[in-house]
Amino acid sequence: MPLKKVLILGGTREAAELAAELEQSGKWDVTTSLAGRTKEPAPLAGKVRIGGFGGAKGLAEFIRTNEIEKVIDVTHPFAKTISANAAFACQETGTVLEVRMRAPWGKQDGDRWIDVGSLEEAANALPSGARVFLALGRQYIGAFTKRNDCHFLIRMVDMPETELPFSSYRLIAAKPSSNPNEEAALLSENDITHIVCRNSGGKGAYAKIVAAREMGLPVIMIGR
Ligand code: NAP
Repeated sequence: MPLKKVLILGGTREAAELAAELEQSGKWDVTTSLAGRTKEPAPLAGKVRIGGFGGAKGLAEFIRTNEIEKVIDVTHPFAKTISANAAFACQETGTVLEVRMRAPWGKQDGDRWIDVGSLEEAANALPSGARVFLALGRQYIGAFTKRNDCHFLIRMVDMPETELPFSSYRLIAAKPSSNPNEEAALLSENDITHIVCRNSGGKGAYAKIVAAREMGLPVIMIGR
């Protein structure tokens, strides 16, 4: 019997783990879809397609053409457009949609979080003279460029080809570490006083939160 075709909307560690698990089960013909934001994505089990579908209608067309029987949305919790498109496309094509969304992190004893609702609010919450670890993807850093009274440490997987529009910043090419000691070393080497991040949930980006707790550093936490 031919295997059932599943489309995983990915771009997260959990999506990669799911692709491996379904591929291993021998019951599914697995395709993972990536947006194409990372130049060299880590290898994935099963097939991989890269790039946008051309909106919800494009995704519906992809589902029909490729006879997808099930879509699993394992995208990042802040990737809202693709999740909305998946809901529309699955409804239009009568395809089963499973959504696996990470729970947000909860505040623990010792956490010094300043909860905000937007990037703009996060930028305004920084005190003058702060040395900030901006733990955000490049498409989210624009709101902070007006804060020329602060210094920014920015970490990116793919280095930008042009200078960033900050008056004072340091850019490092790296992925987030899952080791709190490594994150703590980065924070202390750079004399960081504040962290800005979004409440993504999951394990992959949590080490910096543990490091901040241990160092007593405030985290400006952008909610969902
Ligand atoms: P988004 O705002 O929800 O999506 C913008 C557009 O990118 C979508 O309309 C779609 O284009 C395309 N797209 C997004 N995810 C796709 C996927 N898995 N496969 C094919 N096309 C996709 O998404 P985003 O926040 O830019 O995130 C893009 C990808 O990066 C997602 O796969 C997400 O899981 C991953 N990611 C995001 C974040 C984050 O902070 N947002 C963090 C880590 C990983 P079309 O309309 O043309 O189909």
